[in-house]
Amino acid sequence: MHKGRIFNIMKYSIHDGPGIRTTVFFKGCPLQCQWCHNPEGQRFDQELIYRPDKCIGCGQCLSICPSKAVEIIQGQAHYFRDKCLACGECCKVCPTGVRELAAKGMSVKDVLTEIEKDLIFYDESGGGVTFSGGEALMQADFLMEILKECRKKEIQTAVETAGFVKIETLRKISPYVDLFLYDLKLMDSSKHQNFTGVPNELILDNLRWLSENHPKVIVRVAIIPGINDGEDDLEKLGEFVSGLKRVKEIHCLPYHKAGLDKYQRLGREYGLSGLNSPNDERMSEIAQKLEQFGIEVKIGG
Ligand code: SF4
Ligand code: SF4
Repeated sequence: MHKGRIFNIMKYSIHDGPGIRTTVFFKGCPLQCQWCHNPEGQRFDQELIYRPDKCIGCGQCLSICPSKAVEIIQGQAHYFRDKCLACGECCKVCPTGVRELAAKGMSVKDVLTEIEKDLIFYDESGGGVTFSGGEALMQADFLMEILKECRKKEIQTAVETAGFVKIETLRKISPYVDLFLYDLKLMDSSKHQNFTGVPNELILDNLRWLSENHPKVIVRVAIIPGINDGEDDLEKLGEFVSGLKRVKEIHCLPYHKAGLDKYQRLGREYGLSGLNSPNDERMSEIAQKLEQFGIEVKIGG
């Protein structure tokens, strides 16, 4: 049976759409946003999360590793990521959870079982399930199977996307989605390229298409100080969203540093370490600016 690659399933979420929700995080994303707080969702390939401070030097991983990616030095396991095959064998034997696979292979049935555990919360709160990532649409066939099952079971669905996908993917999946949460990053394409690794023309075209062809789309923008909150950025954003056919709501999410330690555990550099979160006053100013374009603005998800 076909399996998807899922890196987290979060219960009782109140920030990813209406009501109480279960959020399913798909691994793999075509963007590499420098401020990403889920770096374990960026690469589709399996990888290891590594917490060396938990090592007790028992040597179990050393004897099981097929690629000599571990050495015991001064009573502690040292991990050489460049030699690692991400086979996960050491994760099974380590008594303290020093290494952990970043994602799990899950079948449609596995994911549905998790979703259905929370049916009572959806019913009582008007919630449902949100498919996020990474980029859920990178595993479109797998997502489609789950969406069809949710539709049969009358479970309300939302897909959070950065929109860097083929239009055919959106066309195919759109009829099975109740709500799109569409993440816009930057309106200037060359800045978009610099900070996310891809230009934004396709993303904007896809949002235009969705706004004409889907009944419920909410735009979400993470406000990154000094990167996308300048006067010019906000004006272009307001003009663009107010010109869309049905989309009239933006959720502005203040940048936060919650994912910082994950970069270290994945052996990666975080490029924006000096950045601070915008305060409440600044977020209100941004909301007021966007409201001038006739858009309904909410701070937070
Ligand atoms: S995941 Fe596999 S290859 Fe990598 S360190 Fe563990 S046992 Fe070795
Ligand atoms: S199995 Fe875990 S605790 Fe034991 S040496 Fe390896 S990493 Fe350290």
